[in-house]
Amino acid sequence: MNPTTDRNQQLFDRARALIPGGVNSPVRAFRAVGGTPRFVQRAQGAYFWDANGARYIDYIGSWGPMILGHGHPRVLEAVQRAVMEGFSYGAPTEREIELAEEIAKHLPSVEMVRLVSSGTEAAMSAIRLARGATGRSRIVKFEGCYHGHADALLVKAGSGLATFGHPTSAGVPPEVVQHTMVLEYNNIAQIEEAFATHGKEIACIIIEPIAGNMNFVRASVPFMKRCRELCTQHGALLVLDEVMTGFRVALGSAQSVYAKSLPGFQPDLTVLGKVIGGGMPLAAFGGPRAIMERLAPLGPVYQAGTLSGNPVATACGLATLKEIADPAFFPALAQKTRTLVDGLKGAAAEAGIPFAADCEGGMFGFFLLPELPRNYPSVMQSDSPRFGRLFHGLLDRGVYIAPALYEAGFVSAAHSEDDIAQTVQAAREVFKTLG
Ligand SMILES: *Cc1c(COP(=O)(O)O)cnc(C)c1O
Repeated sequence: MNPTTDRNQQLFDRARALIPGGVNSPVRAFRAVGGTPRFVQRAQGAYFWDANGARYIDYIGSWGPMILGHGHPRVLEAVQRAVMEGFSYGAPTEREIELAEEIAKHLPSVEMVRLVSSGTEAAMSAIRLARGATGRSRIVKFEGCYHGHADALLVKAGSGLATFGHPTSAGVPPEVVQHTMVLEYNNIAQIEEAFATHGKEIACIIIEPIAGNMNFVRASVPFMKRCRELCTQHGALLVLDEVMTGFRVALGSAQSVYAKSLPGFQPDLTVLGKVIGGGMPLAAFGGPRAIMERLAPLGPVYQAGTLSGNPVATACGLATLKEIADPAFFPALAQKTRTLVDGLKGAAAEAGIPFAADCEGGMFGFFLLPELPRNYPSVMQSDSPRFGRLFHGLLDRGVYIAPALYEAGFVSAAHSEDDIAQTVQAAREVFKTLG
């Protein structure tokens, strides 16, 4: 588009003068795919419109929260009503209890909940609680899993097994990550060895059950089973980071998906965000009473927040959770997501493009690879320049997918069969140009 008339470009130029990279969260900047980020003017249902007035079918949905689509009437009404009653009080409200009840109702592993404002804060606080409850310092995370940007979690794998990781960000001193062990996702031998050598020092394993921050990679059932067993055996806590998967892949979240293959499976702590706020800044962590009561003001583990349990955010989250609790909701969403994924697979096959895809509930991922990867190094094999062409081809045809290879995709209840069919048709056209 002509730069003198492209409103997105104009806004991007203005933004870059004041905001580092022009964005307030790095992936929005399109650096992995090139081009000008689309500045959103408004959104409704399954669509958003950019600053030029172009419409896109939205498959990021605020990176997961917008499971009902944008501007769902009952959510809108709840938020409008809440706003009229005040924005924030710094004192408790009934709605916080209702939201905690709604979360606990669907997650048998959660007896008590603490509400916070972002997934980062929730994961960071869950780790502090795990350390406080066990009296241990070491934590185990897996390469390719993202748990927000708290210092101790911004770590990449070191070389060799059971060495400690290296900071992935400047500004994180090595001393701050010295207790963080980074292991390969889905590698049972590594996690066994880590516990054999350091079992008594490990406070917790933190894991994305379906890793949505390396696109879409499932923890295998035997791997999850082994993580659970090792934690139990060694007195460590299993922390499931369900910020992305929580209330997104199933009403019972990813833990309910694993419980189908592993009867009785439960994490010790669960970290939530995204969908539970319905698009407002709200996140949470929860678990059994005996652990959660270690938190201040009852226990010695400090945690607090000025805007925690914000009345507008809880209204939005609660209204969202009530909608998705309809028994017909997830089967319909999962069916739609499956139709999209199957359509994309078919379109890629017609064009002879290597393509593998997977989905659960309203979350999906695809790779320009002949088969689904199982860990971060294999995700890295994906064809990045080709992905960039696919991304822009779809964008030109009014389909907005995540502007990076390492991100999952999201379908909402507002996506119609026609939206899905248009998306598959757009992909069919683009795949033909990728050969
Ligand atoms: C998004 C995400 C986070 C971080 O949440 P923010 O609200 O962005 O701080 C943490 N963990 C997982 C698995 C996520 O997907």
